[in-house]
Amino acid sequence: MYDQIKTYCIEKNVTLVAVSKTRTTQEIMDLYNKGQRIFGENRVQEMSAKYEDLPKDIEWHLIGQLQKNKIKYIAPFVNTIHSIVSLSLLTAVNEHAKKYSRVINVLLQFHIAQEDTKQGLSITEAHDLLAHPEIQTLNNINIIGVMGMATYTLDENQISREFKSLRSIYENLQQTFFHDKTDFCEVSMGMSGDYKIAINEGATIVRIGSAIF
Ligand SMILES: *Cc1c(COP(=O)(O)O)cnc(C)c1O
Repeated sequence: MYDQIKTYCIEKNVTLVAVSKTRTTQEIMDLYNKGQRIFGENRVQEMSAKYEDLPKDIEWHLIGQLQKNKIKYIAPFVNTIHSIVSLSLLTAVNEHAKKYSRVINVLLQFHIAQEDTKQGLSITEAHDLLAHPEIQTLNNINIIGVMGMATYTLDENQISREFKSLRSIYENLQQTFFHDKTDFCEVSMGMSGDYKIAINEGATIVRIGSAIF
């Protein structure tokens, strides 16, 4: 399945994050040897352990919830954090990145699903966050886009509506806060069960685990 999905993503010009949570280093190496370099993990400890064991040209993406007291473990190497849900978290990531003279890419996570279990900002909260003067002082983070997860359902119309809403949140923020900043260009949405719908609705990054491992 990996080769098929990879080809599909290349055709659609979409970045494939291989979600390697719970997978062994051997399983990850099998994809690495096929050319995959971007891997996503949802837990800090697991990602740090794998970072130690695996080739250093892997680009690590944190896709799961992040606690402030754990940022220090990933700040030296993480490439992108998909799960920014507050200004205080963003500020904390910036502080840790600064210690290593790094710039960490971040995505603002939005709550687009009907399930309460999925975390994320509302559009109003994002406006408040981005309009805050402190944002201008954060030189060690680069806000590159938005992320969201659709409801776990078989109703494709609902999934499609939720992805549309994330895409329009992206457009809104791009026009309001980032019109002179080309780095704000990513919409991270779509997993094993719904990535084709996500790509149709304008995803630029998909995060796929079970379908490729
Ligand atoms: C696990 C996970 C994925 C991948 O899910 P699959 O259904 O295995 O493709 C994508 N995004 C997040 C945030 C995840 O936690």
